[in-house]
Amino acid sequence: MEQKNQGICRFCLETFSDATMTRHLLACKTKKEREAQELANAKSTYPIYHIKVSSYRDYWMHIEMNATSTLRELDNFLRKIWLECCGHLSMFTINDVDYQDADEDSESWDSIIESIDNRLMDAMKVGDKFSYEYDFGTSTDVESKVIAERQGALDEPVRILARNSPYIYECSECGRQAIVFCTECECLVCEECLADHECGEEMALPIVNSPRMGECGYIGDLDFDTFSHQEKY
Ligand SMILES: [Zn+2]
Ligand SMILES: [Zn+2]
Ligand SMILES: [Zn+2]
Ligand SMILES: [Zn+2]
Repeated sequence: MEQKNQGICRFCLETFSDATMTRHLLACKTKKEREAQELANAKSTYPIYHIKVSSYRDYWMHIEMNATSTLRELDNFLRKIWLECCGHLSMFTINDVDYQDADEDSESWDSIIESIDNRLMDAMKVGDKFSYEYDFGTSTDVESKVIAERQGALDEPVRILARNSPYIYECSECGRQAIVFCTECECLVCEECLADHECGEEMALPIVNSPRMGECGYIGDLDFDTFSHQEKY
């Protein structure tokens, strides 16, 4: 089945491909109107970073965060929406500097590794690319770029501007929509076929909109990002 790598702009609700989304978000009139409104009501403003995060090309998100937020807050967000299975270590690499949680591995702690309690604005600037790794065993890699900066106010810690739409997979047995990924035989299975599946139901993990799908018992949290249910702001 052909899978379209596209997502919806959460301001004007138009659909764009991964390749054209960045350009659209920088020009979206509805987004600009909302920001102007927020700016008019804001008691104080701060620098806001527009960051694109992507993983294995199929999974991507455009987000905005207060640039005075810490890398830990970005780490928490990535874990919550995409990655967290059982509390593995993670690390950012930005301009050749590694950022990690200081408490987790004090043995190997040295001056080359910085703390993830650094602020975004102290670790990166517009145009910088950086990488993030979750779980150093069966790792999931995320590539990121700071796309733009603006002065404004956000009413949420992380605002999702756009995200890849969930992919639809066919059951390898009957062709209906698959709901699980069998980690034993690495095939996709629908609800009807699951009961008779030769590997049993224990080895099956739900299909989720995450680059962590199928890894290390990842089951995700389907309700975290309510926009996947097509709600408007
Ligand atoms: Zn738009
Ligand atoms: Zn795990
Ligand atoms: Zn089936
Ligand atoms: Zn199987």
